[in-house]
Amino acid sequence: MKKKLIAGNWKMNGSLSANVSLLQAVLDGSQGMNCQAAVCVPAAYLAQVQSMLSGQSLIALGSQDVSAQEVGAYTGEISAGMLKDFAVRYVIVGHSERRQHHAESNATVADKAQRALSAGITPIVCVGETLADREAGLTEEVVKRQLAAVIQVNGHCISEIVVAYEPVWAIGTGRTASPDQAQEVHAVLRSQLKAATSHSDRISILYGGSMNAANAAQLLAQTDIDGGLIGGAALKAADFLAIMAAGSTTA
Ligand code: PEP
Repeated sequence: MKKKLIAGNWKMNGSLSANVSLLQAVLDGSQGMNCQAAVCVPAAYLAQVQSMLSGQSLIALGSQDVSAQEVGAYTGEISAGMLKDFAVRYVIVGHSERRQHHAESNATVADKAQRALSAGITPIVCVGETLADREAGLTEEVVKRQLAAVIQVNGHCISEIVVAYEPVWAIGTGRTASPDQAQEVHAVLRSQLKAATSHSDRISILYGGSMNAANAAQLLAQTDIDGGLIGGAALKAADFLAIMAAGSTTA
């Protein structure tokens, strides 16, 4: 059975000194845990966090975005090759905040996933419906369309991705999907992946959206929930450690 993957998304938070306190506490408190973990940090702190994570294998380094281009005149962009220079193992692509504030389309997200895979980095592909989509009964259609774009562009490499189901209405709102609601969508995504590759069992499907120390165990106990993508609770060592502990017992 796959170990649960607990990935923190620090978003645009942190400072050189705050990162040391947070990450050192997570490193100290997580020794011996039986899950996989990652911290997806702002690009400015990749070198610092790479150095802090060296010498251990429980917590991997992640980034929050990657360019859809390989190289060239794209001011402000960061390529997959550059991330690889910092031993980045995971990169989030298609987070709803990027879809919303940077107008990222399903096609762009698919290209970003492809760039990451070409560089040997695992893309954490985020999909999720808005509240309006859910209320209109469109949840399944929306998440399947988002994932289909990534499947179409990435062909047989698709078994190397991680998927994160993140209902937009649950991100940063304190309003979590119920375990049943999350499981229902995860099962849809699982069967879509099964139809796309005979190696779908390798693909972890994470839940993200106000996961916290109190609700993690129940969510992570669902059949098709293989881990969590954690925003706010990843900024507090005790909370992130509690979620890692829940992931270690429900493996
Ligand atoms: C996220 O940003 O991916 C996320 C899940 O945030 P939060 O846990 O704060 O809802």
